[in-house]
Amino acid sequence: MAGIATDPLRLVRLYPVPFRFLTETQRFPKYSILRVRVRSAGSDARPESLKIDASSVQVIRPLKDWRERAPYVEPLVGGSMCSLVAAAAENPNAQSLGLVTVGEFHSIDVKPHPGWTPAELQRFARFAEQGDLFRADVPQMRQAPRFKAWLRFTCPEDSCTQPHRVGMLDWELTALQGHLRDRPDHEVVEAIRFKFGTQMFGPGRATALYLGNQENVTRRRQFMVLGTYYPPERLAAAPLFQML
Ligand SMILES: [Zn+2]
Repeated sequence: MAGIATDPLRLVRLYPVPFRFLTETQRFPKYSILRVRVRSAGSDARPESLKIDASSVQVIRPLKDWRERAPYVEPLVGGSMCSLVAAAAENPNAQSLGLVTVGEFHSIDVKPHPGWTPAELQRFARFAEQGDLFRADVPQMRQAPRFKAWLRFTCPEDSCTQPHRVGMLDWELTALQGHLRDRPDHEVVEAIRFKFGTQMFGPGRATALYLGNQENVTRRRQFMVLGTYYPPERLAAAPLFQML
């Protein structure tokens, strides 16, 4: 799970928290202030990776709207898909999480989800063995959503001429499909296209993408969309210390 550490302000990867596999009741609201004990991630050498002590998670408060989130998030916006990929090609342990802007949004590809892969099932099984975050019973794995999606976009720099095609692991993509579970396929596809294409990259949104790469050292150049930050405009006028 991608998160933001507040002192100093930086992007972090916290695990094991297999957020996208969990059912509604096992999750805390996105953009919550948490207090949690962490330690280094051991074999995972990516600089942002931290292991959490699940029993220590305390939800302090949710950040309700974009204005409350902006002072934490917006100072971290920088770089691009191209710059992250280039750095990872140079050094596999380069920055592995980024919050980037897009030059031009091209399209969104939506395809049927083939179901969880054996690797995903294994990851969840490992998590389940370690125990649940908040409950004594064994966490249940949610069903795979019906569709997967990829965003196609170029970066702000002129040298980026060929659109990237980047897979989405965004929890909101799964949640949207959950809300539409009784709707026919074509309506779900339309809704995904509307929310993650037309709306997020249309007028009135200052969208940035949370990108993260994979632990497998041979795949560090493969970044995925882990989430989207899509306020109507940049809002971080208030310095962070006024918020704390
Ligand atoms: Zn690019």
